[in-house]
Amino acid sequence: MSSAQQILQKYWGYNAFRPLQEDIIDNVLNGKDTLALLPTGGGKSVCYQVPALAKKGFCLVISPLVSLMQDQVERLKAHDILATYIHAGMHYNDVNRILQNMLHGPIKLLYISPERLQTELFQEYLPEFDLNLIAVDEAHCISQWGHDFRPDYLKIASIKQLFPEVPLLALTASATKDVQEDIMLQLQIKQPAIYKASFERSNIFYEIKYSEQKNAVASEVVKRANSAIVYCRSRYQTEQLARNLRNDHINALPYHAGMAKDLRQNTQESWMQGKTPVMVATTAFGMGIDKADVQLVLHYDAPEHLEAYYQEAGRAGRSGADARALALYNAKDINKLQESIAWKFPKESYLREIYQAVVEYLQIPIGTQPDQYFDFDIADFCKKFKLEALPATSALKLLEQEGLWTMTDAVYHPATIQFTADRHELDNLLQVYPDLGYVTTGLLRMYGTIFQFPTPVRLSTIAKQLRLDKDLLERMLQQLGRMELLSYNKSKDGPQLFFHHLRVDSKHLHLDMQRVLNLRKRYEVRTNAMISFLENKSECREKILLNYFGEERHTDCGHCDVCRNKNIVRPSNKELRAEILERLKDSEISLRTMIANYPDAIKEQLTTLVRQLMDEELISVLPNGTIKYNN
Ligand SMILES: [Zn+2]
Repeated sequence: MSSAQQILQKYWGYNAFRPLQEDIIDNVLNGKDTLALLPTGGGKSVCYQVPALAKKGFCLVISPLVSLMQDQVERLKAHDILATYIHAGMHYNDVNRILQNMLHGPIKLLYISPERLQTELFQEYLPEFDLNLIAVDEAHCISQWGHDFRPDYLKIASIKQLFPEVPLLALTASATKDVQEDIMLQLQIKQPAIYKASFERSNIFYEIKYSEQKNAVASEVVKRANSAIVYCRSRYQTEQLARNLRNDHINALPYHAGMAKDLRQNTQESWMQGKTPVMVATTAFGMGIDKADVQLVLHYDAPEHLEAYYQEAGRAGRSGADARALALYNAKDINKLQESIAWKFPKESYLREIYQAVVEYLQIPIGTQPDQYFDFDIADFCKKFKLEALPATSALKLLEQEGLWTMTDAVYHPATIQFTADRHELDNLLQVYPDLGYVTTGLLRMYGTIFQFPTPVRLSTIAKQLRLDKDLLERMLQQLGRMELLSYNKSKDGPQLFFHHLRVDSKHLHLDMQRVLNLRKRYEVRTNAMISFLENKSECREKILLNYFGEERHTDCGHCDVCRNKNIVRPSNKELRAEILERLKDSEISLRTMIANYPDAIKEQLTTLVRQLMDEELISVLPNGTIKYNN
């Protein structure tokens, strides 16, 4: 048994690796830079976690998704592996303490948000680190040509230069050929070993339906699934559709990033445990979630591009059992996709306007130093400046890509308290302000570490212990803060904006509009690929997807809607005509139900025949849509 296998067995309890995992790990352990393209659920993280444990030192994992990071660290801890993370919005002192620990500590994996890499604090510690591996998760984020470019990723190359002997492992679940090449170029890794798992998912039935009655179709298909995710493009739509489904007696709940943290968590748990079988969610849902028995992923709205479609559809059928990925679309979706090209790439003057609004919103004066976190709620921001959400969000993203700031997803930070005064000063306080002294004495009793570092606290617990009203307690803490006896940080539960840039006048802001134009062209290509995928009726869907992700495939999959329609034996007009009449002789049936009973390939033939039979007055259609056989 190799050492990697022993580690897998010891910590995870598995006897064997999944396909490609072992090859990737062997390469990394031999010190070779490696690019691994593994679909979601393909066991990416084990590829760096096992090497991290096999050698002295620790593995630096760069990952853009805070929730994923937290989740991974929790899971590692459950396997008795020491891991920690540094992400958006964390306090300077906390970060400093973690980095300090990394110098000597037994911790084997450090997860870090990319915008942290260039901070002075991190740069100060970096050269002293004993790295055994640099793992770059979501490596496609380094490419401008990909669908999720994050300029902070470009800094990774300089870490690699500082540690030329340390292997780098770049991982992604989706990368077209251009993006693959760009990853290697931007990371400056020469001749890496490349491993690519097939993106084929032979147990998923890909299906696209044109529909003007999406609600009815959704109810119909969702009803039959024990576990389903329905993806919508807007928060409002998730709420609306979940309500509709519940009216149809389907147990469904909405999920989106605008919901309170507790509610989000409860909804997710209820779905994970199967108590709520149907989750109606924005695309914020599903990252890092591994539920094996999802039978259906329904795209209620057309996805933005094939990367998103593939990733989201791929959440179905993880167990290997047959599953269905159905996307609905109509002319409105196509229009929206086409229109998005304009609002995704607004004019230069609009970009300057948004920059100005952001610095006013955050109250950042000209000349303010870079590298600071701010709470930033896009919905609130748009409301205050009367901005339309879609173009404003795109402008924020484009300005982010210009390197001005980094926006991060919502992350929860508990309130923290640290005493900055010494015991002597606190004793004096007790004499002069007995009520404030009562609070500090209580805090000391409850939290042993409160002198040493910012200690996470629960205000409600303290209020209960000290028999104080929570609001009053908060005011007293703020007062103690103003008196510089302690530092109190309120709890946070929202997205953050990390301001990189030295704040300038919006008129003097440097914007590379040629780059924006290039991005727009790429975006157009991706959008058009999505549209033709939706409208396609002749080519195997899986073949299109695999080719899109640079995998050559010449045979049809046999299990997508296009393939199935091709394989259907079409009845002759005469046979079908007889069949319709036979059916109507038994009972009246609605035209919609009748059409729904036939495969897509036959529907056109069927409607033509129904029309002919009506002209011949052999059948008639009643005002309520029911077809009747005329005796
Ligand atoms: Zn096919």
